[in-house]
Amino acid sequence: MSKYKIIWALYHYLALGDWDVETYLPEKGIMARSEASAKIRSLSQRLFLDPEFKAHIQKAQAEKNLNPYEKGMVRVLMRQLDYYEKLPSRFIEEFTRATSQAQMVWRRAKKHNDFSLFQPHLEKIVQLSQKQSEYLGYKDHPYDPLLDLYEEGWTTQDVNVFFDSFRKPLKTIFQRVQEKPGYKATHPLEQLEYDKRKLKKIHHAVLDYLQASNKGIRLDESTHPFTQSMALSDVRITTTYHPHDFRQSVMSVIHEFGHALYDLQCDDRLEYSPIAGGLSLGIHESQSRFWENMVGRSKPFLEIFAKDFSTLSPSIEKYFKGKDVVEELFKYFNLVRPSLIRTEADEISYHFHIMLRFEIEKGLLEGTIKTKELPGVWKQKMKEYLGDTPKSDAQGVLQDIHWSMGSIGYFPTYSIGTFLSAIWKDEMEKELGGLDALIKRETGIRKMQQWLKKNVHQFGSTYTLKELLHKNGRKLDTKPMLKYLKDKF
Ligand code: MG
Repeated sequence: MSKYKIIWALYHYLALGDWDVETYLPEKGIMARSEASAKIRSLSQRLFLDPEFKAHIQKAQAEKNLNPYEKGMVRVLMRQLDYYEKLPSRFIEEFTRATSQAQMVWRRAKKHNDFSLFQPHLEKIVQLSQKQSEYLGYKDHPYDPLLDLYEEGWTTQDVNVFFDSFRKPLKTIFQRVQEKPGYKATHPLEQLEYDKRKLKKIHHAVLDYLQASNKGIRLDESTHPFTQSMALSDVRITTTYHPHDFRQSVMSVIHEFGHALYDLQCDDRLEYSPIAGGLSLGIHESQSRFWENMVGRSKPFLEIFAKDFSTLSPSIEKYFKGKDVVEELFKYFNLVRPSLIRTEADEISYHFHIMLRFEIEKGLLEGTIKTKELPGVWKQKMKEYLGDTPKSDAQGVLQDIHWSMGSIGYFPTYSIGTFLSAIWKDEMEKELGGLDALIKRETGIRKMQQWLKKNVHQFGSTYTLKELLHKNGRKLDTKPMLKYLKDKF
């Protein structure tokens, strides 16, 4: 374990460096940062491949009578060892360098709505991802080994089957909502400006209500909201501020809080170990989406902050005059419509955004889609799935940070996690009663968190998604989510 602690320390500083790139690093500092990160990354590889360390891991693997935690550690270490053995160190350095630089360029390209700035960087990342997939090896599809990095054991075919199982019923629900009498695709609050300082105060009040303040969490601002876990008692989250439409930054705070809580509630004894905090992105996303959708978008939650939201600016205050504030907020936060932006999408059409990205990523890796064609392909697929096309690339192909980070194979975990969140809701309600009553009180929030700690968080990465579900007597089925959506909408 003391040997692993050095690797842990390197990861800790890599995480700090990554967080800094997204938040405070001056643009000119990126070359030096990407160089430093590349070197630290390959140093961690060297330590991992040190014969003595390797022998320790292999010896542990041969050991019988391991407890679940030890088994989890061996599993995670063996996976990392496999990764480092298959990828040459010059490749790891090149990948790290290319992706940290691309993140900076992506940010500029998005700001200036100029895909041509980002395209050569993306081209390079796609080539590196194809290479990575070759190095890691696969039987059926080059997407398989990349997906497995984010969701252990999942294959491209699993995702195909998963998406096929709910594409149609989801489309039906989406259509039905839009056919309801009195349906509106926009909400006036989307156009109203708000006082950013006041909104920031609400964010902190929300985090207080969610009892995050004493847990080691820090909130900052970035182009794309994210969570970076530094340690079990130090998790950084960010949000973005839209010039109007305050809903988005509130939802991002709650979403990222959900990710943070998973790490913050991990058993302290796992600190500095390979299974500290969550690795499965599906499980992670089930936590963020649970808090965002099932808590943050609920009536009792909106009611708690109704007074604060309705006084965010004079124009907002004027809008709410004479209206049922909670009803209006609920409509605004749960607006269903074909949105162009994934992070702003409603709970139903969200998954169409993921399907679109999954299809594009598969095409990029197969070579059937070229990066130069992406803005066009994007528009065509948006038309197919949502019946609308973006006017700009900033609102289209440039909207997400993931490809600039080299995270190809990541997107399906968003849908996996979202469907999983409905299973946790089911299980939690069996034990604690309805969510609505729990959300109303801070004691209820505490009970929900304790439940999540007991059933999900405390284990960190001890179990894979499948094992964790099995432990809770469940498997990943899509019925609970489809039922939840039907009931709600
Ligand atoms: Mg997330």
